[in-house]
Amino acid sequence: MGKNLVSPIVEGENIKTYFVKHIEGKTYILLYLPYSPYVNPGKGYAYINAFYPTSNKLFFIAKRIKEQLAEYNANIYKGNLKKLFVDAECAVYLKNSLVLIEPYGTRIALSAIECDLMNTPEILPAEGESRSLCDKCDACEKACPTGAIHGFYISEEQCLRYACDHPDETEIDLTLMGKSVLGCDVCQAVCPHNAKITRESMPTRLRELLHIETLIKNAEGGRKELKELAEYIGDNYNRPGRILRLARLAKEHDKD
Ligand code: SF4
Ligand code: SF4
Repeated sequence: MGKNLVSPIVEGENIKTYFVKHIEGKTYILLYLPYSPYVNPGKGYAYINAFYPTSNKLFFIAKRIKEQLAEYNANIYKGNLKKLFVDAECAVYLKNSLVLIEPYGTRIALSAIECDLMNTPEILPAEGESRSLCDKCDACEKACPTGAIHGFYISEEQCLRYACDHPDETEIDLTLMGKSVLGCDVCQAVCPHNAKITRESMPTRLRELLHIETLIKNAEGGRKELKELAEYIGDNYNRPGRILRLARLAKEHDKD
């Protein structure tokens, strides 16, 4: 096996959490970035799941790694990331449809680069490092506010994450999102795999942008006014109509 070309590049981007796996003539650099969920920002403020800023950060890191490996035909993997991690035996599927990598539980954002670097050594987790507790647990099934989890099957249409994006195609009550305008966290919050992960405060500026009145005003102004928020959550989620709908629901909840 040749020299390890991957580690200096990935670790140069301050990422210590990654695997390298060869599958069917391709090399996959499996990047994952752990995060701590945010503390509830309090009265007057909406909430987003810390997954989204972490995922957005990882997206830009993966882009830079791809550029550094351009001579090896590097591309950002566009397929099903959870399946790729599980097939590579680097993560384990859980009942809540998320994947587990210990010691971070399901509090991880995923990305991957595929490239032609077959000469670099594989970097894999120790055997049996992540073991699912799902066989003896049904906490997420019981806690899911819409009853979307059925064994290891999740009904996408019943999940709030889907319903928020397709309000015209669903009968799911979006007020179940509470004050969250991005991401339902219920099935992760109750998962024993995440029990040791402590919460952190939201970055100050992000909290300011989630001040409900500010958020409603910015969403009414359109994509341009939401640009600063999009720097945290990614351009894909810069959707004024969606944000406005959920910010107004957050305002209703904030009266309680
Ligand atoms: S809450 Fe329990 S059943 Fe659900 S994913 Fe976590 S360990 Fe598995
Ligand atoms: S994200 Fe929320 S709605 Fe979707 S399965 Fe988990 S708890 Fe249920």
